[in-house]
Amino acid sequence: MEEPLGRVVDRMKEYDVIVVGGGNAAYCAALAAREKGASVLMLEAAPDEESGGNSRFTAGAMRVVYNGVDDIKALVPDLSQAEIDSTDFGTYTQDQFFDDMARVTQFRTDPNLCELLVTRSFDALNWMRQKGIRFVPIYGRQAFKIDGRFKFWGGLTVETVGGGEGLVAMMKDSGKKFGIEVRYRTRATDLVYDGAKVSGVRYRSGKETGIINGRAVVLACGGFEANAEWRTRYLGPGWDLAKVRGSRFNAGDGIRMALDIGASPYGNWSGCHAVQWEMNAPEFGDLAVGDQFQKHSYPFALLVNATGKRFVDEGADFRNYTYAKYGRVVLEQPGQFAWQIWDQKTKHLQRDEYNIKQCTKVAANTIEELAKKLDGVNPEQFVKTIAEYNAAVRTDIAFNPNVKDGRHTQGLAVPKSNWANTIDKPPFEGYAVTCGVTFTFGGLRINNDGQVMDLDHEPITGLYAAGELVGGIFYFNYPGGTGLTSGSVFGKIAGESAGAAARS
Ligand SMILES: Cc1cc2nc3c(=O)[nH]c(=O)nc-3n(C[C@H](O)[C@H](O)[C@H](O)COP(=O)(O)OP(=O)(O)OC[C@H]3O[C@@H](n4cnc5c(N)ncnc54)[C@H](O)[C@@H]3O)c2cc1C
Repeated sequence: MEEPLGRVVDRMKEYDVIVVGGGNAAYCAALAAREKGASVLMLEAAPDEESGGNSRFTAGAMRVVYNGVDDIKALVPDLSQAEIDSTDFGTYTQDQFFDDMARVTQFRTDPNLCELLVTRSFDALNWMRQKGIRFVPIYGRQAFKIDGRFKFWGGLTVETVGGGEGLVAMMKDSGKKFGIEVRYRTRATDLVYDGAKVSGVRYRSGKETGIINGRAVVLACGGFEANAEWRTRYLGPGWDLAKVRGSRFNAGDGIRMALDIGASPYGNWSGCHAVQWEMNAPEFGDLAVGDQFQKHSYPFALLVNATGKRFVDEGADFRNYTYAKYGRVVLEQPGQFAWQIWDQKTKHLQRDEYNIKQCTKVAANTIEELAKKLDGVNPEQFVKTIAEYNAAVRTDIAFNPNVKDGRHTQGLAVPKSNWANTIDKPPFEGYAVTCGVTFTFGGLRINNDGQVMDLDHEPITGLYAAGELVGGIFYFNYPGGTGLTSGSVFGKIAGESAGAAARS
């Protein structure tokens, strides 16, 4: 292979395991490989100050199986008695997690990978705790207070302390503690492969290129969401226009490197996780804002497009089960935008992200006045849409944000199935959103040991994968909080396998 121009360095030092990436999956793989006694080098394309991948942009919410408050206490040992007394944590059993994965992926999720994800989720988080990662319950976002008591809903109950920033900071501390070496600004470009086994990676760091030898390589360097050309190629026309919610460094390198040596592509290559995202957000994520450009309280609002009409059932299900597919729905609207419409009856249910100063927001005291302020929207049709919607709400059914309350509309072409409230208590508000892509679903085929499979579905010796670039887990949609859990479960598996193989 021809080396690009620049200083070429051939590093003779050999590591047991090279982990490509610097996010949650990479750290879990690196820590697990260290546990097996392997020497570990992590290569992170980003500079230190931008490192941590999409994991750093998250809220740190993690979907995990738990059978009651005792399991939550195992993950959150300093949970107070007052918190326990005022909270209904419910359960999130293996069956519930399986059902959610099957339902949202339309029964496409790979049964083996899904089983690992579900059955090892609790062990993976417990193991992370032993590595110094701390968790807290997600009060506020996943539980609303009704009659003085919190009730969790939607299977998403814990998050890392300090969100994604906290997660990556704790991972870095843990990496240091356990002796993991990290090289920043170092982008892996190719795998060293002799047709029989992978024995290292080629890299580029500024103008320097070279080879680092490793007895095993774990690819944990994200999907292709930050690559506009690949998005258009695989997700389809229009996806070049989406905003990227997170890291600008995930350009599909890991997938490409593996495909170049004959790995098997797998999963939903035309699918991705994409949400409603601030209309005027920058091209890539901004660490100072994090995930706050999202606008995730839409089940309690209305969505209208440029024609002034509604186009989607905002209340089809809990937010956790619709938000990841509604970005695509917004991208498909004329001009790739929509407005979320609110009144004062449900404003108190807005998440914090509605209060940031980087919001494209308008407010008015009448619907007619609001209609004129909604940039790009047909005002006459908008006024008609609100009147028709208000007349269709079944106000005889009680509103309850903690359950799928069945308070629906009747007779509309586009129904609202739950949490339907008339829009009639001023001031009214509008928030402009577009599509923000989170991560891509298509990737590499792995076996139960995290080994990357070739086109004959045989493992490629020395090559492992974890995180976003593993295909076959998510199709069409995604249950909130599963990306990090997937990175943890498969990162741990890949790291253990790579570490053990390198030391054997
Ligand atoms: C705004 C936002 C909010 C989210 N919220 C949540 C949430 O609350 N809960 C949840 O479960 N999921 C959430 N997700 C999804 C979650 O971020 C991902 O599923 C998960 O972090 C993926 O982890 P990963 O380690 O596979 O990838 P990443 O964390 O993206 O790590 C990939 C790493 O690889 C590096 N890299 C890329 N190419 C190369 C290369 N060639 N060489 C070396 N390094 C390279 C990158 O710099 C990066 O460090 C969110 C995502 C975003 C963007």
